[in-house]
Amino acid sequence: MNWSTRQQAMLEAMGLRLWQREAIKAPAPAPLAPVKASPSAPVRAPVTAPATAAVTAAVAERPVALRPSQPPSAVSALDWTGLREAVAGCQACKLCEGRTQTVFGVGHERAHWMVVGEAPGEQEDLQGEPFVGTAGRLLDSMLRAIALSRGEAAPERSVYIANTLKCRPPRNRNPEPEELARCEPFLLRQIELVQPRIILAMGRFAVQSLLRSSEPIGRLRGRVHQFHGVPLIVTYHPAYLLRNLTDKARAWEDLCLALDTVQSA
Ligand code: URA
Repeated sequence: MNWSTRQQAMLEAMGLRLWQREAIKAPAPAPLAPVKASPSAPVRAPVTAPATAAVTAAVAERPVALRPSQPPSAVSALDWTGLREAVAGCQACKLCEGRTQTVFGVGHERAHWMVVGEAPGEQEDLQGEPFVGTAGRLLDSMLRAIALSRGEAAPERSVYIANTLKCRPPRNRNPEPEELARCEPFLLRQIELVQPRIILAMGRFAVQSLLRSSEPIGRLRGRVHQFHGVPLIVTYHPAYLLRNLTDKARAWEDLCLALDTVQSA
């Protein structure tokens, strides 16, 4: 693989130094997933190639009203203020008992990019903002490498960050299906209000929640999925990347695919 200047800068920003980049050349590329036929999803677009017409078509489709998996609730009619209040006061599952506070989301309310993570950890629970711990610092570096920010910026340079769960599970255990189901309307409404041009689903629980898929990340990444008309890119969770440095290169590919997808819209 030839590392272009852009790729090198990105990998440096993600915390990969040259010796690590050399190391990640060694493994054979992940086998291509046998792709489930989906009429609108292109099959594993090469990430460095110009986006395909299929990708363009996928992006051109603008979001429509989202349909949660469960019966429509009052949540789907809330504005930002109402939604914040509903989340802050939520007692729909037992996670409310252990939380310091709910963790709603952060970023531009009409950001073109939306990142969906898993659940607050210790720092997020204390500070009330998603991705503020170690994994959050890596996420910020990744976003910075493609000129995106959760801070003040124009919508096209902005990211809205939210989690599938708004409360920290005890000792950071995995979210339970019941908790995910109870919390889902909040995330759906956030997506509906932001109307992002692209969603980055990070990690197993975000992906499984949004795509209703039990396939591993490795088999879902590398192509453009659809979430109610919004292109969705599957990628690794930053906390996973901190433990698996060699997969940072694949995460970079995922970011490139997302960038190509947005730029071709
Ligand atoms: N991991 C997540 O998925 N979300 C956070 O907010 C923090 C860590």
